Amino acid sequence: MTVNKQNYKEEFIECRPGCGACCIVISISSPIPGMPNGKPAGTPCIHLSADGLCSIFGQAGRPAVCSGFKAERAICGKNREEAIKNLARLEGLNYKNLHFKNQLPGV
Ligand code: SF4
Ligand code: SF4
Repeated sequence: MTVNKQNYKEEFIECRPGCGACCIVISISSPIPGMPNGKPAGTPCIHLSADGLCSIFGQAGRPAVCSGFKAERAICGKNREEAIKNLARLEGLNYKNLHFKNQLPGV
């Protein structure tokens, strides 16, 4: 994932439990257990649980990019929908075409 941080001010926030937007929308190029080639943008990670949590949180195989990704206001927004829209824009995805957006946990 490449995020251009020049255009916004960093404001770290608490990650919303059950959101999971970043675990679906962003691409991950490093290997993930069970996904040796990482995952493309818009594809749910196989470790995203039905309640929107990381099922390998704290485990050795969890990608470093996941551990290092911090919730930020400019990316995560005020709710899951805003997060999906922001992340989709960063990944060059068309929000209107994201069929999973209504299938996220808790929606
Ligand atoms: S998009 Fe932001 S709030 Fe949602 S799960 Fe990821 S880091 Fe947490
Ligand atoms: S490994 Fe965990 S934090 Fe990383 S994308 Fe998958 S579910 Fe999300």
